[in-house]
Order: sequence, then structure tokens, then C-alpha cells
Amino acid sequence: MTDHEANEWAKAFLDFHPLPEQRTPDAIEAWADMGKVNREEMSAVIQKMVDSRPADSAKRAQLQAAHDRMVEARRRAAVYDGDLDRSRPAYYVGPGWHAILDDLVREFAEIEGLGFLSAHEKFGGLRVTYLYEGDRQEDVEAIVKRASDRCLVSCWYCSQPGKMNQDRWWRVRCDEHWSAE
Ligand SMILES: [Zn+2]
Repeated sequence: MTDHEANEWAKAFLDFHPLPEQRTPDAIEAWADMGKVNREEMSAVIQKMVDSRPADSAKRAQLQAAHDRMVEARRRAAVYDGDLDRSRPAYYVGPGWHAILDDLVREFAEIEGLGFLSAHEKFGGLRVTYLYEGDRQEDVEAIVKRASDRCLVSCWYCSQPGKMNQDRWWRVRCDEHWSAE
């Protein structure tokens, strides 16, 4: 087989195996045997073609750039210093839980590198998103759990004692607000 034929054979392999995970050593060896090409040579030719594909590398760079932008946007949005003016717009829950979240954001500020992102209600309970890469994960989770536990017994509307119940969906309300709905 000439070099030209080996190249054509490698191109055909890539057409039949468009996904990286399909291009296993076994698949390449089987393809080389089928074309009566040296296995190492086939593998090298295929690798070279994958590396030099402009579409692939451009797309990889694009994905990486999008990912970097997302990471940077999250880092900029995160509140690290307990600044409640910045954290409050990200409380996507009822006013009855806001004081609980203010406490959480202040406690977050005491842990180096811990940034508050947002708070939501899910299945009636509190969900908090944050950025953290450090060795105090247990402390972080303890803060989140304390806030979640408080929300479970605080009316979502007015912060008076409430309980979790399911009507059409799960939520926490005081007696007054349960009957108001
Ligand atoms: Zn209430």
C-alpha cells in the first residue's frame, strides 16, 4: 500500500468513526488489518489527521472559550464578602426566607474563597448554589444545612413559624398563609 492509499484508508476510518470514543486502539488495529497496513503506521496517520483537523481544533477552542467565559461570569457574580446589596437580588425565594439567607451570606464570608451565587426553592425546601474550592467543604455544608433547616419551619411569605406540606406542590407556609392560598 502506498502512502497515498494509507492516507485514504485513514480518512475512511475517520468517516466511519467520527466520534473520539469510537477510535479505540482495537478499532484502529482492526482497520489496519483490513487494509493490510502496518498497525502503528495506521495509528500514527489517524492521529496526525485528527490533530490537524482545523474544524476540530477550532471547535475545541470555541468550547474552551465558552467554558472560560462561564467560569469567569460565575466568579464575578459570586458574593464573597457578605455584601447583602449584591446577594439579595439572587434570592429567588419568598420574603419570609430573606433574613435566613442574609445570615447565610454573612457566614459564607467567614470562609476564605466561598462565594454565594443564588438561592432557590426546590420541592418546598431551600437550595443554595455557591462557588467553593477549598478544604472546608464540611463547614460549608453545615452552614447551608442550618439555613435549610430554618427554612423548613419558617413561612416562605412572612417568616412566622410554618410547616412543610403538600397541596398542589411541596412548600413551607404558616397557618395563615396556608389558608390564604
Ligand atoms: Zn406566613
